[in-house]
Amino acid sequence: MDPFCGDETHDDDHLHDECGVFGVFGHPEAPKLIYLGLYALQHRGQEGAGIVCADEGVLSAHRGVGLVSDVFKPHKLARVTGDRGIGHVRYSTFGSSNLKNVQPLVADYARGSMAVAHNGNITNAAVLREELEEQGAIFQATTDTTVILHLISRSKMRTFTECLIDALGKLVGSYSVVAMNGTEVVAARDPHGFRPLWLGKLDNGWVLASETCALDIIDAEWVREIEPGEVVTITDAGITSVKPFPPAVPKQCVFEFIYVARPDSYIFGKSVDEVRKNLGRELALAAPVDADLVMAVPDSSNPAALGYSHQSGLPFDMGFIRNHYVGRTFIEPDQGIRDFGVKIKLNPSRHAVSGKRIVLVDDSIVRGTTAKKIIKMLRACGAKEVHFRIASPKIIASCFYGIDTPNKKKLIAHNMSVEEIRDYLGVDSLAYLEIDALLRATGCDPLHFCTACFTSMYPTLVPDDYIPKTNNKRHVDHSTEVYGA
Ligand code: SF4
Repeated sequence: MDPFCGDETHDDDHLHDECGVFGVFGHPEAPKLIYLGLYALQHRGQEGAGIVCADEGVLSAHRGVGLVSDVFKPHKLARVTGDRGIGHVRYSTFGSSNLKNVQPLVADYARGSMAVAHNGNITNAAVLREELEEQGAIFQATTDTTVILHLISRSKMRTFTECLIDALGKLVGSYSVVAMNGTEVVAARDPHGFRPLWLGKLDNGWVLASETCALDIIDAEWVREIEPGEVVTITDAGITSVKPFPPAVPKQCVFEFIYVARPDSYIFGKSVDEVRKNLGRELALAAPVDADLVMAVPDSSNPAALGYSHQSGLPFDMGFIRNHYVGRTFIEPDQGIRDFGVKIKLNPSRHAVSGKRIVLVDDSIVRGTTAKKIIKMLRACGAKEVHFRIASPKIIASCFYGIDTPNKKKLIAHNMSVEEIRDYLGVDSLAYLEIDALLRATGCDPLHFCTACFTSMYPTLVPDDYIPKTNNKRHVDHSTEVYGA
């Protein structure tokens, strides 16, 4: 299911997307192209958006809280000028959701101005921040990206790219980063390559994007994915690539395939749509059921449900109709409506589900609260049987690499057996995909994926592994400040 944007409909039953990054070099319409790229990446973050461009070496920026279309009205986009720049859409995995944390972060330092936008999560950010604060650094933002700027500004290396590499070399965790100063744009992926990052070409310029759907929207040619551990620098002299970090086994986020990325994108060398359909096929092979139809919890589960339908021979039907025009706030009647948040977004088609034995496919379950409401809605519309099929394994652990997960104690599968979850949700049968089937569905080397939220096997040190020197947590909470978009 796609994430709900407004508080009242905030979907607490799926892991939330993290962030998306975009960059352009050498195109006269860079600000508008970045705006469009961010539009295509909106599914990766709905809480804030920003664009920074460089014009004759001078950076201009606009950032705001909200959706891309809210943040960038024409007169605001016109303030950002230049033929090179970077952009970001944000979902807050680290740091509160206020304007100070909206990226790209921009700073002036001894060598000029710079901007950084980051998709991922730095697991040793708290330790690095504490060290920097002890050395006198002052932080305004609470996002982990701000640590990267401080490390760049303190680096004694020669060029901007070398300073960025110096900074990134101190990080543990996940990052797909786009960064710039007045003249160059740099892209980097962490050595494990947790998050995707693409290089594209448009006319005589270059484009960087989290997913190919953002290259498509501006008719950019797909050149290749930035490789894990690779740093690409684009200047007026051309493009250069280095791999400065010790090599590591790729640990790409398998959850990008399950839920995060758009199905029309290619990431990690594969079509997201194809992998999701494979997930459904694997699910049908592992957990068949005698039923009348297959339906999805739309939209992100549609390909998996189609895959289940193709493999099982059961017809696929659009049993849920989704309202695509949901805004950010809603006025609820005083008397209250049962399951209001879910009903704003989804409604079952009574004709399709009444009297039917249904296979309902969803990509994942986090807390189970939304799933329970959805199933109740199906029952209320006369569904005879509901067989719930989940196109991923049980989520039993938190993610520390850029996907927002609740504490593991709030994960339903951390606390309950499959039978207990089945009983809680009120379904006739429940089956999850096993981890082997998930990895098989990717068609890639199974060792090249992070599966930590399903297995608790983290590829790197995570925050719990670091012992803070002090308990003196003194970050200012800016969350009550009000900013116009
Ligand atoms: S823990 Fe899960 S969501 Fe996080 S990077 Fe690994 S596979 Fe992706």
